[in-house]
Amino acid sequence: MAHYVGAIDQGTTSSRFIVFDQAGSIVSVAQKEHEQIYPKPGYVEHDPLEIWRNTQEVIAQALDKKGLSAKDLAAIGITNQRETTLIWDRRTGKPLHNALVWQDTRVDPMVHALAKQGGPDRLRSKTGLPLASYFSGLKLRWLLDNVPGARAKAEAGDVLFGNIDTWLVWNLTGGPDGGRHITDVTNASRTQLMNLHSLGWDEDILRLFDIPEACLPKILSSSEVYGEAKGVLAGVPIAGILGDQQAALVGQTCFQPGEAKNTYGTGCFMLMNTGETPYPSKAGLLTTVGYRFGTAKTVYALEGSIAIAGALVQWLRDNLGLIQASSDIEALARSVEDNGGVTIVPAFSGLFAPHWNADARGLIGGLTRFVTKGHIARAALESTAFQTREVLDAMAKDTGIAVKELRTDGGMVVNELLMQFQADILNVPVVRPKVIETTALGAAYAAGLATGFWSGTEALVQNWAVDKRWTPAMATAERNRLNAEWAKAVTRSLDWVG
Ligand code: ADP
Repeated sequence: MAHYVGAIDQGTTSSRFIVFDQAGSIVSVAQKEHEQIYPKPGYVEHDPLEIWRNTQEVIAQALDKKGLSAKDLAAIGITNQRETTLIWDRRTGKPLHNALVWQDTRVDPMVHALAKQGGPDRLRSKTGLPLASYFSGLKLRWLLDNVPGARAKAEAGDVLFGNIDTWLVWNLTGGPDGGRHITDVTNASRTQLMNLHSLGWDEDILRLFDIPEACLPKILSSSEVYGEAKGVLAGVPIAGILGDQQAALVGQTCFQPGEAKNTYGTGCFMLMNTGETPYPSKAGLLTTVGYRFGTAKTVYALEGSIAIAGALVQWLRDNLGLIQASSDIEALARSVEDNGGVTIVPAFSGLFAPHWNADARGLIGGLTRFVTKGHIARAALESTAFQTREVLDAMAKDTGIAVKELRTDGGMVVNELLMQFQADILNVPVVRPKVIETTALGAAYAAGLATGFWSGTEALVQNWAVDKRWTPAMATAERNRLNAEWAKAVTRSLDWVG
């Protein structure tokens, strides 16, 4: 009998393969970074073939490390960076262009043009999303308009669209040789082409965005057997797909309405389970599909998306050379007492939730001769915590639910200075679970539920355990002062261009 479930976690900065046991503990893991391609300001691309190669490599490595093979895996799940968009040739399997990454803002002019008639929220009731460059639909439109010949081939069904989940499943199940062209409801809900209520592609939006349905994948649930893998995982059922943030919601076992998690990776994403009806947001959040396990009812979530969190740490590393490795930021930030009056608003791709201001740009404010790189490091970490506070406030406004404690995960939560500051600035305890690879875990759970490896969600809740809890320790006056400084800085970053 197979004792494990595997998860492909294809993230913005790297691809991982993680093998989990029945207790939800990590048995083996391998990871590889891929290139971030910045052809010009606002453009962010990935090479889909590099991602597929890396995915195959990390699968082989993770199995190899523990002497495992396909027969040890009961199922595999996939979780992926959402919204990142690509098109490829069905016959050759070759992408027609690099993938446009979710942070890419090249479609801003289309967003502005569409918002002129009907406003930025004209598609909210159908899709739960404001018009923004973030989502896949307009990125697909850009590819069809700008890659010579792409539109005609897409209309004929010879060019296929996918987010990264779709690309990986198609390749894993045989590529040009019978690969399945599918996606799950959570990924589809981020294209802005899916109707949240019918869970199908919306004809009116396809017409508005000028997208031929022939190139779109079939929408399935997040937990069912989609097909069998070929290659190194030959014969293993592929049985779970969840967008990365929804996967973390599942990995954190937030199965009750009102339960929320915050994932601190490249960006920062808070999701709250809101139960079986889509919950419209008035406070600048997104309404999205949380998960759908097989034929069970669809569970919806409210999401606060923050574009830049860990990416600011990378920027200090790569663009300013302030640190050698991301993990160096904590020691640098601890070299000073406080932020020394500095506030950084990392509005590199505009500001997402709750502002949705495409024309915002980043700023570093409050500079004096006193300021050192330690203060910059500290302000960089604090910016993630301030943005999270804005999102938590928006959740409370929309739902009337005040989160009692915040479950955290993602690459930044090893940073204890950030975790304490987060608890302080929220005035809410912050909890880190034992397994912080909750994104991969959620995908494994979806796959294992579909194949009977886990009996049901109760078994998953049993697996969740606390590693560390941070309790708020900041005086109210200080918290208020810092929040006011942040609010002032944000105001100045809005509408910087345009
Ligand atoms: P993703 O899944 O979006 O690729 P991860 O969850 O792997 O991201 O997190 C990676 C991010 O975390 C990077 O942006 C990196 O800069 C940041 N990071 C990693 N270690 C630390 C640390 N010790 N302190 C702060 N940020 C960190």
